[in-house]
Amino acid sequence: SNLESLLDFFSDIKPSENAERILRDRYLLKDGEGKYLEHSWDDIARRVSRYIASAEILYNDDIEKIRDVEEKFYKLLKSRVFLPNSPTLFNSGKTLSRDVFQKNREDMSLEDYKKIFNSRNRHNMLSACFVVPLEDSMEGIFDAVKDAALIQKYGGGVGYDFSVLRPKESSIAGTGGKSSGPISFMHVFNTTASTIEQGGARRGAQMAVMRYDHPDVIDFINSKKNNDGKSVLNYFNISVNFDNPEEFLKKLENDEEIELTHPNSNIKRTIKAKELFDLIANNAWKSGDPGMLFLGRHNKYYALSDVTPVSATNPCGEEPLPPYGSCNLGSIDIAKVIDFVELGNPEGENNDLFKELIYWTARFLDDVIDINVYPLEKIDRVSKEQRFIGLGIMGLADAMYKKDLPYNSEEGRMFMAETLAQFAYYSHLASSELAKERGNFPLFEKSKYKNGFIPFSMLNDDYSENIRQWNNLIKEHFFGEGKKYKRNVQVNTVAPTGSISNLADTSSGIEPNFMLAYIRYMTDKEGNRVPLPYMNKILRDKLDGDLNSELEAEIIEKGSLQNIEGIPEEIKKVFVTSMDISGMDHLLAQNVIQSYLDASCSKTINLPKEATVDDIKEIYKKAMELNLKGITIYRDGSLETQVLTKAKKE
Ligand code: ADP
Repeated sequence: SNLESLLDFFSDIKPSENAERILRDRYLLKDGEGKYLEHSWDDIARRVSRYIASAEILYNDDIEKIRDVEEKFYKLLKSRVFLPNSPTLFNSGKTLSRDVFQKNREDMSLEDYKKIFNSRNRHNMLSACFVVPLEDSMEGIFDAVKDAALIQKYGGGVGYDFSVLRPKESSIAGTGGKSSGPISFMHVFNTTASTIEQGGARRGAQMAVMRYDHPDVIDFINSKKNNDGKSVLNYFNISVNFDNPEEFLKKLENDEEIELTHPNSNIKRTIKAKELFDLIANNAWKSGDPGMLFLGRHNKYYALSDVTPVSATNPCGEEPLPPYGSCNLGSIDIAKVIDFVELGNPEGENNDLFKELIYWTARFLDDVIDINVYPLEKIDRVSKEQRFIGLGIMGLADAMYKKDLPYNSEEGRMFMAETLAQFAYYSHLASSELAKERGNFPLFEKSKYKNGFIPFSMLNDDYSENIRQWNNLIKEHFFGEGKKYKRNVQVNTVAPTGSISNLADTSSGIEPNFMLAYIRYMTDKEGNRVPLPYMNKILRDKLDGDLNSELEAEIIEKGSLQNIEGIPEEIKKVFVTSMDISGMDHLLAQNVIQSYLDASCSKTINLPKEATVDDIKEIYKKAMELNLKGITIYRDGSLETQVLTKAKKE
């Protein structure tokens, strides 16, 4: 089929030197003594595809079919057109007997697949995203510390809603003492995270959320004030939650006061809306934290919000989850797909290929839910009752370079919107297809889908003719078949893809490239630092004969083309970097993309060093006015060591 030719084409392209280095450092399996058990990307693709395909035994006892599924998964991975989140790559089949992974596919028996499935153990934790609830009691808090420790031990990121905890100085019945407050407990979670080595692969990451009307919200907003990226609450991103941003905007306009209260405390405070907003913007200016989060909007598009409302997001903000919820992610590199598919066009020639690709990737992620070994029984239950998957894209910026579309232009946004609409539509078709084969997610009958419900905002039909057509197809689906069949409560998200985009040699998530060229230093076998010059390969092809060593050096030095003489304007316009793009253009990109995501997306609004507090306020206000689900900014140079989402490419 067409999908085969796409996957075969990219399977022949080898990972770059940089991707190989990351594979060696972090992904190839090693034994207890540090000796490599795997040697190449191909080894990983074989292990992971076989491991995940063994979940198919739950639905299928036709050995031929299971082998075919394994082969499909293998090609998805081998081609690097699709990559699951890091924990799936790290932990699939880890600690299992190696023999069964070395067999030829044709020799695999049903018993072999069953053996894999049944020997899975706690080391085989495959998800990136978790939310753990807090309880306003000493016992509850320290239970959560333990839960979070286990999740992080196996490489997951965790989010918490600290609003639940009573403010500091509140009385504690029973002991007659006073509570030390949510911020003090954040430090406990931070210290715990800092002591957990995630198998040596990476450091922990957490998200702390607090309601805007919690009595300690000011301390919360200031909690990372002296952060230099290394010291204060450095295992946390923090976000202030406004369930109803429209209402807050009104309070800002009318210069009203906000009452800060907590159900378990007598403490009451007031603060002017304007003062609160100034404080948020000032701190964000200094260090990027806090961001703003609009969980009310998340719940609006979440089909089980009446049953288990989402209470926080994972560390990078793309995945809101209910208490004990988890989500496993996977991303399609659309910079590769675009060589074969005219993305965004409802009448595009190879659309079936994209549709089929999305079906198989959704099936992969759905299988991950079943074979996953969750760190806690409670998480196992919620994950299987709701079956969140986070199918996303990466390579957006590179795809746009290929199509000569500037990221910061109306035509660029049109492309983003149409592509995401197509992506969302096919993804939900896939989830319905899977439901027909395997059944609905168990809580389906309690969900909003049952009565016809679209889990994202969509853009106005007038936006473009293509959007009008996608919107119609989407409505037809959710008010037709989608009322009966849905395998997953939520399907789409866009992750940062901080590591996996490097493995795929593509741009990360939906972000513009940070730099077009730079020098990376690697350590060779003798321990010497050797420079490894890098240039975006689409740019290299574009400049072709015009590229000489002098020009290359200049691009490396500047990272951007904008201030280089002699490069044609058309090229400068298209090959923009994060820092070439205004904050507002970042935000508008997020807006059109988020309109077609049922979960959310990881996006940083990058601002130049000279940006003012007022610039930040304007952006935060715009995020509230538009239907954004949250917002994170980062002002260039404001942190010495930049945390997770804000990190430059490694
Ligand atoms: P990757 O590219 O390694 O798959 P992403 O950068 O896409 O990971 O991040 C996806 C999600 O994985 C994050 O939102 C977060 O929930 C989790 N995550 C990322 N990095 C870490 C980390 N160092 N520790 C724990 N969780 C992480």
